[in-house]
Amino acid sequence: MIDPTLSLAILVSFATLMALITAGLVKWAAEARTRTSVAVVLFLLVMMIAMLGGALLYFLHPGTASLVAALWFASAAMSVSVFPVFAVFLQDARRRLVMKEAYAPAPLRRRHLFAASILGLVVLNEFLMGWTFQLAAGTLSASRATSAATALALGVNSPWFLFPMALEMGLSAFLLRGVLPRRFAGLLITQAALMFVSPPAFSDPTAAHVAVGIGSALMIGIVIFVLEHIYRHRQDAPVVSGYFLGLLAIYALMMAGLYQWLVYGSGLLFAVSVVLEMALFFDVVVVPERFKEEKGVPWTLRPHWTFALLSVIFVAEAFMGAVLDILLEPSYFAGAFQPLPLSGSGATILSNAVSNGFWWLDAVTASTWFLLMMGVEMGTLVVFKIVETRSRETRIRLALMLGSYGVFVVWFPSIYYPMAFPGLPSGTAVPVLGWSMGLGSAAIAPSLFTVIFATYGIWALLSLLFGRRWVCSVFCMAPTMYQGTTIDAMSSFNRSSPLGRKYLSSRFSGLYSVTTGTVMASLVGVSLLSYFDQVGLTHVLIAGADPSVFLYDLSFNVMWYLIFVTIPYTGNYSCVTMGWCYTGIITGAFGRLGFFDLRVRDREVCKRCTTLDCAKKCPVGLVDMPGHFRQKGRFRSSKCCGVGDCAEACPYGNLYLHDVRHWVRERLAARRTPPAGTLLPMVPRAHAPPTSEGTEPRSPVPAGRSSGAHAVAPGPSPPA
Ligand code: SF4
Ligand code: SF4
Repeated sequence: MIDPTLSLAILVSFATLMALITAGLVKWAAEARTRTSVAVVLFLLVMMIAMLGGALLYFLHPGTASLVAALWFASAAMSVSVFPVFAVFLQDARRRLVMKEAYAPAPLRRRHLFAASILGLVVLNEFLMGWTFQLAAGTLSASRATSAATALALGVNSPWFLFPMALEMGLSAFLLRGVLPRRFAGLLITQAALMFVSPPAFSDPTAAHVAVGIGSALMIGIVIFVLEHIYRHRQDAPVVSGYFLGLLAIYALMMAGLYQWLVYGSGLLFAVSVVLEMALFFDVVVVPERFKEEKGVPWTLRPHWTFALLSVIFVAEAFMGAVLDILLEPSYFAGAFQPLPLSGSGATILSNAVSNGFWWLDAVTASTWFLLMMGVEMGTLVVFKIVETRSRETRIRLALMLGSYGVFVVWFPSIYYPMAFPGLPSGTAVPVLGWSMGLGSAAIAPSLFTVIFATYGIWALLSLLFGRRWVCSVFCMAPTMYQGTTIDAMSSFNRSSPLGRKYLSSRFSGLYSVTTGTVMASLVGVSLLSYFDQVGLTHVLIAGADPSVFLYDLSFNVMWYLIFVTIPYTGNYSCVTMGWCYTGIITGAFGRLGFFDLRVRDREVCKRCTTLDCAKKCPVGLVDMPGHFRQKGRFRSSKCCGVGDCAEACPYGNLYLHDVRHWVRERLAARRTPPAGTLLPMVPRAHAPPTSEGTEPRSPVPAGRSSGAHAVAPGPSPPA
């Protein structure tokens, strides 16, 4: 009987050796250009399979008979695999004889077929290793493999599969670093690291939890990398965009698999995702030259691809959030989501399934961990945007927006209130006056009227003073999602998507009126219902929830994310442009009446402007603003949420955002203006309006002079 520690050490040494050999063979395969070298690589991989297959036969039923069968199998497999290699060498020898001086080895033609063969053999190798080593270590018994699916899950979700595979991936990426595209080297290494922290590989629960945490952090890093990469390289080759989409789709499956493993104890989905990830990885590594392909069509012109990318990222994050919730806040998740049974008639099963899906998504998207994760991802893109933004006011706004996300989206509702009011059930722990969104945060009881009116009073006041920008570009979580580099670049879909185009400009189209009308009617309806429920006049629940709470959950925890992933079809900021959000509609209406508008320093500059960059950069598609600037020098719309991209984009620095601060400064400046006649002749009497940053305008146009292009600097001159 071998000492268990010694036997473990032997197995670990063998596994490491196999991983090193496989990585070396993968490198050889990637560099193979002739049929002979290809034949040798394939032969060596088949030899390894023969050995492992023989060992598996023995360990499945250890005994003399199985030992003999194992030896026969291994010898037969090895002998048979020799023939193709021998045939290739013979052909090569014949070629050498025929071609004599002009001899050159026969080139490899079907490279993709070869890559697929390498991939299949490596996966089979690892799978056999997973099973054989587990049986040898005594951690698995053959009787547990009751079906092919279970056998796959048991073979793959084991440390003997996952750790050697991670080592092989990391080593292959390292050995091939010279031929792999440099910008993806880090990504490939991260893929290997992610494989290494696969939670099912760890038998100790604490280690598995730590692995979930590290894996989630790595995955967040990969999502940020991909999003920022496509922002910087809008015209990537189809092979690159296909790789990104495939990778993130696999991670979505992996996270769903982890959820299935944690909740239902089945590792099948996770195992499938691991195999797919290996396939994608080795496909890149074995044929790296494909990444040198020509550039393709910009993704901003490929709505389906962009939609697919956003969707898989969202699915990955939803499951990642659910996994983190289960591990880190199990009581929250158990309390927030109670699934209905999927039994009974077809209609009952369907409605229960829809209800389960809805409340599951609601529970996940409202949870601290999901919001934190989303905040890190989208917030990092916002930080990149801050770095490239020139306007100080916009940089400050973006920083405030990030701070608001942390405080109002994560800390207050998820951390502070549950701590301050531990006895309250989830949902009611968020007071109406705080986040989230006023009406709909809780059932409308008469005792809440004061806070409801106070909430709306404060909203109205802020909107009158600053326009709807205080919420739609600072306090709400939506701008953090919309304003990062990559998502902001998706504003181009406002003008290119058929549906987005219908909502362009500041006018209220028929469609817009229908949406806003429906939203406001629902808000009033559910508020009344909720109130009548509270005073005992009615007893109406929607999907088991208070009507106003249901509307809130539907709007902000479910529909909002559907709107987000459909940006390529509906345009950016469609909660604003299409009027889906009652908070936005209400604040927009008050904002329209107050101090906030957009102003230009010189109308003449706009009249000569041909770029119209302000309109092109507007994330809510207010394409009619240049016309208003030309006519009146200012523009006001209840849809404008004051992000300031227009002012940042204007090549002549001619545009600024005006609100109560400017109004006050203008009044004060008017008071300080000395009486006429006391000025020296060359000093202009009129003062140009202050910029939105509170300083003097970049290029004041002296009074009494023609305000032509020469008066506006810095920036290129507008065309004459
Ligand atoms: S419209 Fe609503 S969801 Fe959209 S940014 Fe404004 S407040 Fe947020
Ligand atoms: S880009 Fe500038 S100059 Fe041109 S229309 Fe817009 S605000 Fe006027």
